[in-house]
Amino acid sequence: MSRFLKEQYRSMEAYTPGEQPRDMQYIKLNTNESPYPPAPSVVEAMNAEQVELLRLYSDPTAKNLKEKLAGLYGVRPENVFVSNGSDEVLNFAFMAFGGQGAVFPDISYGFYEVFAELYAINAEKIPLESDFSVDYRKYCGKNQLVVIANPNAPTGMTIPVWQIEEIVKSNPDAVVVIDEAYVDFGGETCLPLVKKYDNLLVTRTFSKSRCLAGGRLGYAFASPEIIADLEKIKYSTNPYNINRLTLLLGEKTVDAEDYYQEKCRKIEETRAWTTAQLEELGITVLPSKANFIFMKTDKMDGGELYKTLKAKGILVRHFTNPRICQFNRVTIGTKKQMETFIDTLKEVIL
Ligand SMILES: *Cc1c(COP(=O)(O)O)cnc(C)c1O
Repeated sequence: MSRFLKEQYRSMEAYTPGEQPRDMQYIKLNTNESPYPPAPSVVEAMNAEQVELLRLYSDPTAKNLKEKLAGLYGVRPENVFVSNGSDEVLNFAFMAFGGQGAVFPDISYGFYEVFAELYAINAEKIPLESDFSVDYRKYCGKNQLVVIANPNAPTGMTIPVWQIEEIVKSNPDAVVVIDEAYVDFGGETCLPLVKKYDNLLVTRTFSKSRCLAGGRLGYAFASPEIIADLEKIKYSTNPYNINRLTLLLGEKTVDAEDYYQEKCRKIEETRAWTTAQLEELGITVLPSKANFIFMKTDKMDGGELYKTLKAKGILVRHFTNPRICQFNRVTIGTKKQMETFIDTLKEVIL
């Protein structure tokens, strides 16, 4: 740390991304990327001509991509925001709407508390219930920025849309952010509520179900007024927040919806298979609607299991928070990868 850093950032703890090691070829089940490549039409859209066009700035209005997303999801382009990964729109939401404080679950996406600290927002972390579910009543009537991932991470568990509606309805003077990064793997979206309430912001990403984590593309739905606020922040930080190549690939991705739906169904199948295998081994698996499962075994400490699997070439994600340190989060890969995972696990714990 230099002596120049602002006082408020000196004790700030940055977000720790999942490791991306280069030392050997791992079966990488630690950062919830898709095991599948983007659709062929997306891959073919990239060529020398597109790279040469990088001399020009990208479209700051992202007009084409917004129109395509609006068409796919049945909203108006004024209801759509696009961002450099959904981390960026979450960042903007805390910056713009955190004035009265923020509430989110104690066990959730680790970035929320980093954003709260970055903007010196008073954050209340509401403990999940003992079964790791969210009790929606604890988020009602707060009139502070509410942020809930649905499905939640790293549990994979969902809350029903009617409970989200209760939260949105009971916080009319604050924004409610529902982070739907994993909704495409069998969850239920609260998007229809955007037409009914002017205080709901639904965030999504191309990183998981759209096989584009490295492209950095996120999007969000809300009332035109909330979208205008987010645009204002964007134009005050980085008007060209999405590069030309990613914009193009995003448009091609929306056009290839059927391909991605098929991949999502495949991941759901593999998730069901993996869960059944683990349960047969007596391992606890939380009910997941995401492209990962959250599991623990009483045969080995969570941190120990993480290290042992890594030594055998399988990367999973372990969190040191005492409430969940016995668990590991395992991304659903291809069926073959999951077979290797199960075989390795058997070697290790049986
Ligand atoms: C992965 C993830 C995101 C952000 O993903 P981006 O790559 O920034 O789009 C947001 N929320 C949750 C819960 C996630 O797991």
